[in-house]
Amino acid sequence: MTSPTALQAARRRTFAIISHPDAGKTTLTENILLAGGAIRAAGAVRARGENRRTRSDWMKIERERGISVSASVMTFDHDGKMFNLLDTPGHEDFSEDTYRTLTAADAAIMVLDAAKGIEPQTLKLFEVCRLRDIPIITFINKMDREAQDPIELLDEIASKLALDPAPLYWPAGSGGRFKGMLDLREGAFIPYAKRTGGAADDEGHPEPVAFDGNSISQFLEDAEKAELEEQAELVGGGYPSFDLQSFLEGHMTPVFFGSALRHFGVKQLLAGIGAYAPAPKTMKAEKGGEPAEVEPGDKEVSGFVFKVQANMDPNHRDRIAMLRLTSGKFTRGMKLKAQNTGRQMSVNAPIMFFASDRELAEEAYAGDVIGIPNHGVLRVGDSLSESGLLRFAGLPNFAPEILRRVRVKDPLKAKHLKKALEGLAEEGVTQLFRPMIGSDFIVGAVGQLQFEVMADRLANEYQLEVIFENSPYAEARWLVGDRADVEDFVSKHKSAMGQDIDEAPVFLGKSAWEIGYVAEKYPKVRFERTKERA
Ligand code: GDP
Repeated sequence: MTSPTALQAARRRTFAIISHPDAGKTTLTENILLAGGAIRAAGAVRARGENRRTRSDWMKIERERGISVSASVMTFDHDGKMFNLLDTPGHEDFSEDTYRTLTAADAAIMVLDAAKGIEPQTLKLFEVCRLRDIPIITFINKMDREAQDPIELLDEIASKLALDPAPLYWPAGSGGRFKGMLDLREGAFIPYAKRTGGAADDEGHPEPVAFDGNSISQFLEDAEKAELEEQAELVGGGYPSFDLQSFLEGHMTPVFFGSALRHFGVKQLLAGIGAYAPAPKTMKAEKGGEPAEVEPGDKEVSGFVFKVQANMDPNHRDRIAMLRLTSGKFTRGMKLKAQNTGRQMSVNAPIMFFASDRELAEEAYAGDVIGIPNHGVLRVGDSLSESGLLRFAGLPNFAPEILRRVRVKDPLKAKHLKKALEGLAEEGVTQLFRPMIGSDFIVGAVGQLQFEVMADRLANEYQLEVIFENSPYAEARWLVGDRADVEDFVSKHKSAMGQDIDEAPVFLGKSAWEIGYVAEKYPKVRFERTKERA
């Protein structure tokens, strides 16, 4: 018999949205929440963001630049399913944060701008999803604007992503001539009503009508209907029909069309997520050093921290560790133990991120994300469970693209700087490397903006004024291999060796060329661009 815990897990849909900036992720997020009944008015997501921002100093940067830096989660119960929408920062400088958030997602919605198709950031994020075997649902957005030929868009998905597109709907026109879309499986036509007024009054669109019924003539001219019919036939012959298994295995993507801004096609997308996106899966783990499998319905509560968020309230120096649950029925007040440190904590004030507001979580299941307030005890990658024996691997660190030496203007504060940099590295804001020789602090980031956020936070939270200088190093690689081989390599390259925040050995190269050269000379040691967090 299926346990109540397993049933609860089975109705969870935990997903993230990936897109290139400006494709419409924020607008779609808001409209998914609207369609799911989680918020009542458009503009709420942005407004919520604004409130949070005014409360927090470092987010001034976000406001000035109009980007969203922090990732969070929005939970809502709709149509018998519990949806957890993981929010990811849009700006590419924060892609590292996005990568980590994707490790907590069971599915991803790929939003494409119908006029632009697949853009560079879409591709990058897609690759992470593929690496993690996350199935992808495609939403082609902005159909209310002049779009590319949908066939071309699908062919681009097939050729650039090596993914079979399976359109579930087919649009009738685009831009000023956008009339709606045909449900390719049900044969219903979903009309699009263009409104000229503000966003508030255009939430409703006419009800679907039968494509071959009489009422279709209200929405499509004869010629338009004939064209759509012909296209649907072409599409039926040219693309495979949707196959759930193939989608779950990452070979196929169901394709939806719509306009997030005009609240069109979002209901269908949400229904598709509910119907096809996978429930939480069995997770591979280690238990007391032995390989183990963790089932969502298992009795033991477990999860892993995929993000640490600081500063939701700048008056408190506390942090919120985002724990993605992987099994069991979590109840408030429960004791969980961290596998790496063996520290046990009573989770008395867990936070669940209901779309409307933060609330205390009374219970949660696999797939859910709870926020655990703590004072820096929990770190990204930590595994928590009741026994403290379970360990989940697979949260990656990525080799930084930019390395800088950081100095504090007041030399008396050097000690203070160390603590602050370690704190920010533990949160994953930037990475920290300590060269074996000398007393430099080298910080690494994927994008320039991370340094700005860092400088801002060091000034506001730690009263430290810092200077970033060019670093003698350009590339960092984690060393992997037999212990003796790694130690031998380290002893011969002390001047180019450093340690990361976990004291793992890192080779700091002056150029990619140098790394290639050294790697060739030491075939027993691997020079890794990513590190799976222990
Ligand atoms: P993000 O950067 O991906 O989060 O994109 P936003 O949601 O902020 O949208 C970027 C811009 O595109 C904004 O000006 C939106 O109003 C606009 N936009 C988003 N979705 C649509 C859509 O369906 N149709 C039209 N015409 N504009 C849209």
